[in-house]
Amino acid sequence: TMAPTKFNFSAGPALLPKEVLLEAQKGLVDYEGTGMSVMEMSHRSANYDKVHRHCIDMIRKVLDIPTNYHVLLLAGGATYQFSAIPFNLLGDGNAVYVNTGTWSKKASTEAKRLFGERIKVVSTPTFTLPKVEDIEIPENCKYVYVCDNETVHGVEWPSAPVFGDVPLVADMSSNLFSRRLDISKYGMIYGCAQKNFGPAGLTVAIIREDLVGAAHPMCPVLMTYKTHVAKTWPAERNQDSLYNTPPTLCIWITMLVMEWIDRCGGIDGIEKMNRDKAAMLYNYIDSSPFWTTFVEGEIRSQMNVVFKCTKDDVDRAEILDFFQERGMSSLKGHKSLVGSLRASIYNAMPKEGVECLIQAMKDFEAAH
Ligand code: PLP
Repeated sequence: TMAPTKFNFSAGPALLPKEVLLEAQKGLVDYEGTGMSVMEMSHRSANYDKVHRHCIDMIRKVLDIPTNYHVLLLAGGATYQFSAIPFNLLGDGNAVYVNTGTWSKKASTEAKRLFGERIKVVSTPTFTLPKVEDIEIPENCKYVYVCDNETVHGVEWPSAPVFGDVPLVADMSSNLFSRRLDISKYGMIYGCAQKNFGPAGLTVAIIREDLVGAAHPMCPVLMTYKTHVAKTWPAERNQDSLYNTPPTLCIWITMLVMEWIDRCGGIDGIEKMNRDKAAMLYNYIDSSPFWTTFVEGEIRSQMNVVFKCTKDDVDRAEILDFFQERGMSSLKGHKSLVGSLRASIYNAMPKEGVECLIQAMKDFEAAH
């Protein structure tokens, strides 16, 4: 039998702060003396309304979101947005998709399936990012699409690639809430919850208000962003996403995670912890001839560290067993990157988890 997991390095669904899980456990059966679980409450009730509004308020506070952006709490994974984005934003124009790995490729494939030639795809060699000035923007370009952090390939944009006035749409499924953002540089940001801030089933979308409302006439009603905008907007900016039943339990847990981020020193506190953890791990890998990364320079992901053993005769399964014996799980890299390992070190991964991993890597190296 395997040792139980102490540190879960999964790429997602991933770990949540223990503190938050304990709080959720407490409130699961009887939420603040109401005698009900949040998951049993009507989404139109006063009790749930408080949760919903507070979740949106906290998301706005944590990321310092300007008032001309909506915060939508949407069901369905990030993949749902691969279809929703062109349906809502393409209008009568074109869009540029920057393919930098698995996830941007999936998004561009879906957009192309729906809208064909109007979707222009720019690709770069694996484990690199293109230069902004090398990307050609066509006439009537409605948006440029990027995956801000490629979860499989471990490549992250170090800052927002800005293309003049053309709105930037960014998939931040694996790095939303991991660092401070200048929201005003983006037209739309979205991310599924299950990596950095909550349970699977919720996707947070942050959309500039002028981009909402010009969806394709064939766009399904629930896929239309305008549908989710409250009638009270802009007076009540925390009342979006109540057209139908939202994923209430996921929203409550996300609210608890936002409060946890706030207690950790806000987004700057979280960013510092994340940068320290990633630097520690990359520095060790760089210093050891036994291990190597796939990605170099400032485009290295702060969230997903993709690496491998430099010795061809070492079996990956043996490395993974060695880690698991020390209570570290889910370090297998994606199947598309042969022999790779991946340490996902999202917000909730404590520094001790990274230290434990580095120690195990040192011990494994010494034993070989
Ligand atoms: N985009 C990125 C960057 C991801 O890492 C994932 C991970 O699963 C997805 C999209 C797809 O998310 P979902 O499974 O919620 O559809």
